[in-house]
Amino acid sequence: MGLEAQATRHINPYEVALAQYDRAVEYLKLPRGIKEFLRVPKRELHVNFPVRMDNGDIRIFTGYRVHHNTVLGPSKGGIRYAPRVDIDEVRALAMWMTWKCALVNLPFGGAKGAVVCDPYALSNGELERLTRRYASEISLFISPHGDIPAPDMGTNAQIMAWIMDTYSMTIGYSVPAIVTGKPINIGGSQGRTEATGRGVVICMDEALHRMGHSDPSKIRVAIQGFGNVGSHAAKIAHDLGYKVIAVSDVSGGYFNGDGLDIDDVLAYTATSEHHLLKGYPHADPISNAELLALDCDVLAPCALENQITGDNADQVKAFLIVEGANGPTTPEADDILNRKGVEIIPDILANAGGVTVSYFEWVQGLQSFFWDVDEVNRQLRRVLIRAYDEVVRVRHQYGVDMRTAAQITAIKRVGEATLTRGIYP
Ligand code: GLU
Repeated sequence: MGLEAQATRHINPYEVALAQYDRAVEYLKLPRGIKEFLRVPKRELHVNFPVRMDNGDIRIFTGYRVHHNTVLGPSKGGIRYAPRVDIDEVRALAMWMTWKCALVNLPFGGAKGAVVCDPYALSNGELERLTRRYASEISLFISPHGDIPAPDMGTNAQIMAWIMDTYSMTIGYSVPAIVTGKPINIGGSQGRTEATGRGVVICMDEALHRMGHSDPSKIRVAIQGFGNVGSHAAKIAHDLGYKVIAVSDVSGGYFNGDGLDIDDVLAYTATSEHHLLKGYPHADPISNAELLALDCDVLAPCALENQITGDNADQVKAFLIVEGANGPTTPEADDILNRKGVEIIPDILANAGGVTVSYFEWVQGLQSFFWDVDEVNRQLRRVLIRAYDEVVRVRHQYGVDMRTAAQITAIKRVGEATLTRGIYP
């Protein structure tokens, strides 16, 4: 079951995030009150605001910004623009940011924001006015040392530039460190756009090496999602010699058993309507559901939450799942996949490349000292492999699966830091 199945059975991502937390926290000896504290968002902002549309009408939009936890440092996390996003989705994503940052040892807590809108149905001018107004509505909640937004689904570097500019205009001077994922000409980092996809491939490569697969040309990879994460993961995997046999997006999927020419696919989406895969001529069309059940070695869900569920996990044929998306696998699906012996590199590790390079961007911005792309990629690899090693060590120590091990590692770090700081007053 793929994207199309979402309409038939809604799974609340926050319930998924809480179920994962409950599963992992059981292994930790932390005071009960601390466990309760880590389970809830620290603060939430709901905003309703007007935007002038191109036809002169005024429309009211709803937005959110949730700070899940700030024990390890300023909260960090993207802003999502999506037509059906709700507060529980933002809570889940904020909580996953807390664990993701802690897992890869960044001095950040977790946050997430969203605006309920369809960014593809707005003109550029409407998108700019909506973004600037949302930025000013949440300006009490964000700051370069308090909470630093970044792109997520439906947002991009241009939107970060407008947020940075809006905040800077109010304050009276330029504050590049207010957001990450900015365009490079206003203080963005080299390597940030590709970072999440690059991290997915670093984790995939590491997992395969550990499983004894050293020849990429023998590995068939299926990638769900061809946005910022999936398209870069596909390109980087393809350049390393992996056989990317299928890709998909909301408009459908495309399959070629001999391996797709990803450069050709990218050339197609560069000029296609809304940059979608629809109509790609050099492969066979498949549905998203078919992609998830494809006969392949690695499956990389790089789109939305709740894609691999209790209803379709049994059909997965890949022996390795690398989660580029946040929350693509439900706990019910985890149980089925674990029983089948499928190795899962969980989201908070596999997609942590984005926030890791966001951290590098933030540090570069604060120091006004910028690195070259080789330095960024080298440091990214170092951070991810160190976290990977740690998760494997914890997995063996507790005798658990990779997701639970990653969560245990992260929760333990935040829990212990909470105890070290002490409870105020
Ligand atoms: N939105 C990305 C994520 O889910 C990046 C967040 C960031 O860079 O702060 O990890």
